[in-house]
Amino acid sequence: MAARRAIFVDRDGTLSHEVGYVNHLSRFRLFPFAASAVRAINNSGFLAVVVTNQAGVARGYYPESLVHEVHDALRSELSGGGARLDGVYVCMHHPSVGEPPYRLDCDCRKPKPGLVLRAAADLDIDVKRSYVVGDREGDLELAWNVGARGVLVKTGYGLGELRNRAPQWPRQPDMVAEHLLEAVQRIVAESKDGRA
Ligand SMILES: [Mg+2]
Ligand SMILES: [Zn+2]
Repeated sequence: MAARRAIFVDRDGTLSHEVGYVNHLSRFRLFPFAASAVRAINNSGFLAVVVTNQAGVARGYYPESLVHEVHDALRSELSGGGARLDGVYVCMHHPSVGEPPYRLDCDCRKPKPGLVLRAAADLDIDVKRSYVVGDREGDLELAWNVGARGVLVKTGYGLGELRNRAPQWPRQPDMVAEHLLEAVQRIVAESKDGRA
């Protein structure tokens, strides 16, 4: 049995400001609590794994190289705050827009489970004892599609999702947190309590 647990973290709206498409490095701005939140994951024994849809590549808004540039900057900024990511998994596909190879009805565009399942295989993660934290319904669906717990943060689209759409959702988030740091603190606390 896989021993390791992970907190899968959405990028835009959860780790960094939701600004629409990050089509230039200058548009990527981490939240002030991002490094503290990832450091708290590092100290908890959970793995910290980013899972993000970047269909702007398929749409031709920016090249794949920009995504890597942004993630290099992300890792370097986090590292300056004493935090590290155990993995970054990206879907750059869109089922119907753009050109191959990015125009693809893939298995990894969230809420499909591909990114989480790849990370689980690479890093030996027990997904059913793991969490997905994000600011949109699709992040919660991703969690439930793999049997993990889904946490909604109020940053990014989160507050609007909660106010405008959550009342109609057939299933409510397993946890709602102000932001990623609070989410991590509560996940770690409930894990220690033996409640999860
Ligand atoms: Mg998001
Ligand atoms: Zn994909």
